[in-house]
Amino acid sequence: MQKMDKSQKTFREGDIIMRQGELGESAYIIEEGFVEISLEKPDGERLVVATRGTGAIIGEMSLIDSAPRTATVTAKNDCVLLEITKDDFSRRLDASDPVLRMTMQVILTRYRDTLVRSDIRQDMVSFPLAEDLEREYLQESDTIDKIRISNEFLESLSNDEICLHYQPLVNLQDGTVYGFEALMRWFHPERGFIPPGIFIPIIEDSGLIIEASKWAFREACNALKRIQEQTGYHNELNMSVNFSSTDFSSDGFLDNIYNTISETDVQAKNIHLEITERLLINQPAQAKETLNICREAGMGISIDDFGTGYSSLSYLHAFPINTLKIDQSFIRDMHINESSKALVKSIITLGENLDMSIVAEGVEQIEEGKLLKEMGCNYAQGYYFAKPMSEKDVIECVSNWNNDMI
Ligand code: C2E
Ligand code: CA
Ligand code: CA
Repeated sequence: MQKMDKSQKTFREGDIIMRQGELGESAYIIEEGFVEISLEKPDGERLVVATRGTGAIIGEMSLIDSAPRTATVTAKNDCVLLEITKDDFSRRLDASDPVLRMTMQVILTRYRDTLVRSDIRQDMVSFPLAEDLEREYLQESDTIDKIRISNEFLESLSNDEICLHYQPLVNLQDGTVYGFEALMRWFHPERGFIPPGIFIPIIEDSGLIIEASKWAFREACNALKRIQEQTGYHNELNMSVNFSSTDFSSDGFLDNIYNTISETDVQAKNIHLEITERLLINQPAQAKETLNICREAGMGISIDDFGTGYSSLSYLHAFPINTLKIDQSFIRDMHINESSKALVKSIITLGENLDMSIVAEGVEQIEEGKLLKEMGCNYAQGYYFAKPMSEKDVIECVSNWNNDMI
């Protein structure tokens, strides 16, 4: 017998693969062989309705509901079937984007409903109506909201309802402005301000983040050029742009970064890519290659929300990272909580040992800033220094900057 994958099953000629009326938790893809699909009518008559061969899928209804099998499937000859369990299917569907998920559920439900209503099935087991299932499904999930937000996002992007705000990063040792982080802002004409914490995960889910990141990167580079020119800090200020894991696996990611840098005429050394540990853990090989190329071109690579993710630090060696951004939760209670303070100190020491810069995020009070400066932290960002603001305001803010804030 050939070696079988865990999900492969063999059936001999005449074996019953699934039986009408029984409960089933799996569908099958026919890898080899033929099967016969038959129905038993209420009067006991058996009706062969179809034959299926390699590549066909059988028992797919079991993936969306717990209703009994609607037909009997028998192996016509020796068959090899690949099993898809309901659990596996749900996992894959949950991981897909919400539009795909909902469409899949609805199509399967309607298909099953059509079968139920057809003459052949009329007097068989009764199922809930497709409409009821759809309504129930939609009520249970926030799918509609997500689809609406995804659709509106693209429209808003082309209507200039989305823009970037820039939050200054301050050099703690001399109090000067080191650069900015570009943060996306969505002012919806009817819903008002939608926080990035809400819409970013949704557009990440639907894949629109790729378009959004391309737009944001170009916008941020153009803004950096203008800010440098209008404040007189030529080639000095830096711009950090956030990227998500999806961006790194998109086609042409590197080409777009390169082209944008050259077309907007900024220097690669003034551009920092902010990523999260998740990217390095989920797509290590691809991320490493891409990040190496960016780093070699002179860009900075920052790990965002450092300290909140994975416990293994080994990735710090494996990737060309040059900045760690300490998550704001540790800064928030650092001056009252000794363990947060110790953790911040350890990250700063880690940065010194690995020759990486440290940025403290969410500095809201002067005491936090002073303590971070004493501890040797390089840069800080937070409401104490400046909130994220429009390009116009940031130019004014930098032009009137006071180096004595810290
Ligand atoms: P993040 O990258 O960690 O950005 C820092 C967040 O902290 C920003 O929230 C910023 O406004 C906020 N912040 C800065 N200083 C302080 C402070 O002193 N106190 C407090 N309480 N908050 C402070 P924001 O703008 O709401 O962004 C939230 C998250 O959305 C960002 O977290 C980032 O993960 C994501 N995001 C924003 N813009 C983009 C983008 O263009 N692309 C991607 N992929 N993600 C983005
Ligand atoms: Ca960030
Ligand atoms: Ca952060």
